[in-house]
Amino acid sequence: MRKDSFLVFKKVLAKAQTISILTHWSPDGDAMGSSLGLYHYLKSKGKNAKVIVPNAYPSFLNWLPGNKAVLVHESNPQKANAFIHKSDIVFTLDFNSFKRLERLGEVVAASSAIKILIDHHQQPDDYARYWFHDTDSCSTCELIYLFICGVENKKAIDKKIATCLYTGIMTDSGSFRFPSTTSATHRIVAELIDCGADNSTIYNAIHDDYSKERLKLLGHCLNSMEVLEPIHTAYIALSQEDQNRYHFQKGDTEGVVNYALSIRGIKFSAFFSERDGVIKISFRSKGTFDVNRFARKHYSGGGHKNAAGGKSDKTLTEVVKEFLHILSAYQKELQK
Ligand code: 5GP
Ligand code: MN
Repeated sequence: MRKDSFLVFKKVLAKAQTISILTHWSPDGDAMGSSLGLYHYLKSKGKNAKVIVPNAYPSFLNWLPGNKAVLVHESNPQKANAFIHKSDIVFTLDFNSFKRLERLGEVVAASSAIKILIDHHQQPDDYARYWFHDTDSCSTCELIYLFICGVENKKAIDKKIATCLYTGIMTDSGSFRFPSTTSATHRIVAELIDCGADNSTIYNAIHDDYSKERLKLLGHCLNSMEVLEPIHTAYIALSQEDQNRYHFQKGDTEGVVNYALSIRGIKFSAFFSERDGVIKISFRSKGTFDVNRFARKHYSGGGHKNAAGGKSDKTLTEVVKEFLHILSAYQKELQK
């Protein structure tokens, strides 16, 4: 944990006019909620702020207030690069290594703007001048709430900000069920509801927005799941061909990895999905098995102790074969 003082943040913000807010590749609810929450706050202070994302995000997030103003680097690199180039501050939210920005990382590394990191992932890289980092926090949105309250106060949180922040806390905490959810989290979301976040509408907009193909794809994933009962592990491998069959859209496999963990006794789950020749991997665990360590060691990834991700350039079949081989070294730990 490293949190610089609000006095310092106040001074830095007071001197800045043009501000980029960046989040990680394949933005999720917490990435977009925190970025847009901070965006609305900075706009309300008269700043020239912009949210810049490396690539597109799922359609179940495109109702968020401020969505239309988001710049996608992959589809508009010149405009995004120019804005970063003229920025006084670059906020990096919900990630802590330039690797998570893919090609946008080079642009940020080359910029002379003051970098401010606000994040809750493990083992941050050392690129930021100022920090608001806490791995005990359930979400970056929770940190943005505390950040705004610290540099100003609760009154600065309007309905738009509250809606964005509620969304990210809800999605990253698995709708308030993961162990990272604390009584403080519940107090914060209660405040956000009082500030205008419509909890039921937000839940529906995120979770009840499936196409019928998405639900059928989920069915396919569940049917093809492999369960390794002796080592309390389950995994799902999804090929590009199967995604095509169910007309895969970005975000359609979000949350699939969690289903395996709902089997009695399962403590470790993995989801492998083939995308443009790369295998994207999601890991989840319950209890002591540290998937951040596992993802870092074997899949150049990272994340949190109970939720992490990574990738591989091998084929899907090779990745699964290699995973089973790697697992043999963890048998003792997983059998417990
Ligand atoms: P998901 O499985 O939902 O994509 O990601 C789970 C968690 O791990 C998220 O907090 C996400 O930011 C992190 N994560 C996912 N993929 C990667 C990766 O390739 N590298 C790192 N460092 N973190 C990742
Ligand atoms: Mn997050």
